[in-house]
Amino acid sequence: MGLMDGKRGVIFGVANDKSIAWGVAQQLRAEGAELAFTFLNESLEKRVRPLAASLDSKIILPCDVGSDEEIQSVFDELEKEWGTIDFVVHAVAFANRDDLKNPFSQTSREGFSLAMDISAYSLVAMTRSAMPLMSKGGSIVTMSYLGAVMAVPGYNVMGVAKAALESSVRYLAAELGEKNIRVNAVSAGPIKTLAASGVGNFKEKLHIMEQRSPMKRTISQEEVGKASLYLLSDLASGVTGEIHYVDAGFNISAE
Ligand code: NAD
Repeated sequence: MGLMDGKRGVIFGVANDKSIAWGVAQQLRAEGAELAFTFLNESLEKRVRPLAASLDSKIILPCDVGSDEEIQSVFDELEKEWGTIDFVVHAVAFANRDDLKNPFSQTSREGFSLAMDISAYSLVAMTRSAMPLMSKGGSIVTMSYLGAVMAVPGYNVMGVAKAALESSVRYLAAELGEKNIRVNAVSAGPIKTLAASGVGNFKEKLHIMEQRSPMKRTISQEEVGKASLYLLSDLASGVTGEIHYVDAGFNISAE
């Protein structure tokens, strides 16, 4: 018996086997979930298809989350194939490299909107399209970072987008609670991924965490996967609107 036996859901955000979304997918599949995946573009499709196949997934769809139509067509397809779904994993974010490198005061208007659109608004659009398929209830999990609540050097406009994302989690959770649809975020410590390579001082962030976190180490993709599994499963049936830190305790300790 697996924790996710009989449950079906879709994972947005696998770029390769280092992606946090991939860590989540592996944990969900190991507990019996049936998974669908999306990919951003053709070059990522080549990476995502074999990964999805290795977890016995048959539904692999294109989706640029900057488009409401593309998001809707993913859920239309899921409705055709499955009728209903039980969970959604939102693990996508984007900001222009320049906007992460330059001083925050130099963030362009376009760059600010783009980071907000792809990294925060997409959760709202995704939830709206997912709701009709969650008639039996459901669970949605997104990925945040400490830069949402503190000014972390080099995180800049992405920190502002994560603050909007965390606030969106609370508003969506408040609205959808009565429908038994839960919305939560995992706030993960730094992990070396494609997206992380665009963040300023990234190596230093790993080093600081090893030195200063209560557990004196960094965290793994697998650990984010296990926390997400908890939030997506019935183990967390009474949990919604929460920002769940997986960062070896770093957020509670200044030492
Ligand atoms: P990743 O590069 O593996 O994943 C980011 C994903 O976002 C990719 O799959 C990419 O294709 C997708 N994406 C970007 N723009 C998109 C668009 N317009 N439409 C659809 N998909 C798009 O990196 P990751 O670190 O696994 O990132 C996943 C999530 O975890 C992000 O929200 C990130 O901010 C968050 N996060 C990462 C860290 C870290 O240190 N790696 C820490 C905390 C939170």
